Amino acid sequence: MQDKQLLKLLKQQQKILSKIALGQPLSEISEEICLAIEEMLEDESAKCSILSLKGNQLFHCAAPSIDAQYCQIINGVEIGPNVGSCGTAAFSETRIIVDDINTSPLWKDFKQTALNFGLASCWSTPIISTKSTVLGTFAVYHTSPKSPTEQDLELIDYFVNFTSIALENDANASELNEVISQLKHSNEKFEAFTQVMPDLVLILGEQGEYVDVYGSSDDFLYASLAQTKGKSINDFLAPKDSQPIMTILEKTLSSNEIQVFEYELDVPKGRIVFEGRTVPVEHYQSKNSYSRHVLWVARDITQRKQAEKAIEKLAYYDPLTKLPNRRMLNERLDMTVEKIKRSGETGALLFLDIDDFKRLNDSLGHSSGDELLVEVARRLGTVIRKSDTLARLGGDEFVVLLEYLGDDNEKANLESAIVAQKIHKTFDEEFKVGALKFQVSCSIGICLIEGTNVSASNILKFADTAMYRSKAKGGNSYSFYDPQLQTLLDRKIELETEILKAIENQEFCAYFQPQINNEGKVVGAEALIRWVHPVKGIIAPGEFIPVAEQFGLIQRLQNIVLNDICNLLKRLNPCVIDDDFKVSINISPSQFKSSLLKSALLNILHSHHVSPSKITLEITESMLAHDVEHTVQQMEELKSEGFTFSIDDFGTGYSCLAYLHAYPVKQLKIDKSFIDRISNKESGFSIVKTIIDLANNLGMGVVAEGVETKEQFTILKHCNIDSIQGYYFAKPMPMNDYLNNHSKNFKRD
Ligand code: C2E
Ligand code: CA
Ligand code: CA
Repeated sequence: MQDKQLLKLLKQQQKILSKIALGQPLSEISEEICLAIEEMLEDESAKCSILSLKGNQLFHCAAPSIDAQYCQIINGVEIGPNVGSCGTAAFSETRIIVDDINTSPLWKDFKQTALNFGLASCWSTPIISTKSTVLGTFAVYHTSPKSPTEQDLELIDYFVNFTSIALENDANASELNEVISQLKHSNEKFEAFTQVMPDLVLILGEQGEYVDVYGSSDDFLYASLAQTKGKSINDFLAPKDSQPIMTILEKTLSSNEIQVFEYELDVPKGRIVFEGRTVPVEHYQSKNSYSRHVLWVARDITQRKQAEKAIEKLAYYDPLTKLPNRRMLNERLDMTVEKIKRSGETGALLFLDIDDFKRLNDSLGHSSGDELLVEVARRLGTVIRKSDTLARLGGDEFVVLLEYLGDDNEKANLESAIVAQKIHKTFDEEFKVGALKFQVSCSIGICLIEGTNVSASNILKFADTAMYRSKAKGGNSYSFYDPQLQTLLDRKIELETEILKAIENQEFCAYFQPQINNEGKVVGAEALIRWVHPVKGIIAPGEFIPVAEQFGLIQRLQNIVLNDICNLLKRLNPCVIDDDFKVSINISPSQFKSSLLKSALLNILHSHHVSPSKITLEITESMLAHDVEHTVQQMEELKSEGFTFSIDDFGTGYSCLAYLHAYPVKQLKIDKSFIDRISNKESGFSIVKTIIDLANNLGMGVVAEGVETKEQFTILKHCNIDSIQGYYFAKPMPMNDYLNNHSKNFKRD
């Protein structure tokens, strides 16, 4: 190359490089390159074109001397093995020299276009990047067929180099722009997310310094977002709160793993439970790329935690009294039993049931009943120690679990008796519900927990059994579990099922026993229930009535008896019965207390069209002893329906004779035990006489029960007595027998 030409080349080189360095647009630089090589080639017809490769397409970059229309046509051409000089060069990554477009097979598809625009030859060189990828093509066209000289090719290589720098530079710049715009975009997205998410996102430095804080509200921070800048958590939090946070930071960084944890903090919104997640972040700050950071995401889970607590409360606590419920008690009892098995110590379980609660609840109304239970729970709470458990099993049943009462049985016995006494003492004071004040008592059963073969479920059952014993004693007492009693209870439970089955099989019926007056006329009869067992024969009521009563079956038995009474009354010939003829039915204590008694009786009588005036209700003295007001009201109501009352077993109870006149009673039944002793002139007779006088004074009638002998009958005949009932005349008998004998007046000679 001549000096002059070399100088020119250097100048051009300088010009182009400075444009590249200044970051001028690629189109401008490549145009400059094209013009420069056209000038250097010293052939008027040389026309340079630069195409850039994107994917597998070539795009126009610069061709200042070629018709713009041609450039437009080939813009975007896909590279391939036979796609003119440029398409083939880019595809094969080698220089393609076509000295005559007209004859070259590579141009077969494009030659007409080229020829139309006066292009006859085309030398194309692929532009290769420093990373050996094809960036585009550098082509020199001539208007007539032409081959390049050595020098031409040298020159072309020289300019291809520049072009490669320019293209590569441009590609890097646009890649960078792309990255920047992507970054911006994702940053915008991130900020949008953090503004609406319920969480708090912190970027914390290794020393707990706030680097960045994102979140929808400041409520979760102890200071505003702005205030946190440049500060560390130690500036805001007391050591007791900051210390655990620092520990998590250290753990996150040292383990390099995600940490998930929960923590609580006082923030402007209140005491918040957070669920935290942390992860270490490397190179978070470019200026500080060696320091490490922790991304800390905190989510407010206070509500969830509260809900969880509420659910637990529901599952383990009684909502009314807030005491542990049966479930919690069972778990504690299991634990206590296990502990006692290992330690050999002794504990105790006290089972407590409020006396007469059902009646209180029925008469006071349920909300007052609830109030009473809450007060009972409160009072029980004052008796027990912290280590003990007080639970409500439901209804009016409470349990006190005493975990430790010493190493020996005797001491435990004494200790638990003391607790039971203390419990009873808390009931001494009257209970106030609304404006009402009343006395309440409770029955307690105690089962000691000792030894190695105890089971939690048995302990509860045994204490319950013992409680029943207290009830049987009349309530307001405590009893210890006694295994023999358990056998009895098991038997009762068995009997209950048998009774239920017998009701279904219609094995129950009423027997009738006549009551006869001084003139030997039948004036009434008592209906007495019998169980006609298919195997055991006739079973007397004493064997099943108490169980039926305890298990709430008595009303069903009573219905059977009342039905039989109605049938008997209907079948009795009206000619042979007196207008005053009545049949008595025995009413048990639980029935008598019930507010349903009246409707139960009337339902059956109405269905048979039998008047209540034909029925005498036999109740015992002890039923009169409780709650005078309620009892009188109940009796008055029944009386107004037409029923009459007779006091059964009179003389054996403790009824206050002075009060007897307060009750609407028509008749007293002198108990058999007095009749048995009536032949004894001294004591026996005078008692009977006193009762008869009392009844007469109160305007009541008298029936003597259990009259077995002629002697008894003769004595009574001379007393002012209304009627006599006993084996002397007739034993209780089935309905048909009774009907057969009634008209004959059960005559005896
Ligand atoms: P109670 O009401 O005192 O019935 C009288 C009991 O004395 C009857 O026994 C009767 O059979 C018996 N008796 C009658 N005359 C004589 C006699 O001269 N000598 C002897 N030794 N006994 C006589 P029973 O039928 O076994 O009934 C026992 C108790 O069972 C009854 O005593 C009553 O309290 C109860 N009971 C019977 N039936 C029913 C019923 O339908 N409902 C209820 N709630 N209790 C009933
Ligand atoms: Ca009776
Ligand atoms: Ca009786």
